[in-house]
Amino acid sequence: MNQPKVFFPKLDALQFSGLKELREKMDARSEPDIDILMRSVGVSVTKDKFEIDDEIPIVENRKAVLYIQEPKRFQGRVSVPKYHIFHCSKIKEMQEQGLYHRYHASSRTDGKFYLKLSRTNELSLRELVLCKFCLSELKKRFGWDVFPKEPEDFL
Ligand SMILES: [Zn+2]
Repeated sequence: MNQPKVFFPKLDALQFSGLKELREKMDARSEPDIDILMRSVGVSVTKDKFEIDDEIPIVENRKAVLYIQEPKRFQGRVSVPKYHIFHCSKIKEMQEQGLYHRYHASSRTDGKFYLKLSRTNELSLRELVLCKFCLSELKKRFGWDVFPKEPEDFL
């Protein structure tokens, strides 16, 4: 019987424990940092990641702005979503319907969010409007005259 020829004997070095450990560390370092994701494309909201503190959504232990990254299409038209800064009645309604997973969480403070507006997975940055229920909560908390106008005033 012919023994299988070892074409790449140096690949055995990949089994070396020190190298294996180093590769694991490199892989760990190459994982996207959650803060970078939250400030850029956002992270998906799942039941176990979503908490509420004083009616403010908390995702990955951070205050989060919620928005739907992939808006609904109806008769070829895209309905541009609003963003949410509170656990408002719209978010509660979506949770009751088991649709919270449609939301993305972001820590952006410029009111601009990455959306999937085309049928491809391409993301485009769009400025969104604050949800009317969240605006109402904002006014309740800060009054009509002094409520923050910019998302960064809130976060
Ligand atoms: Zn809202």
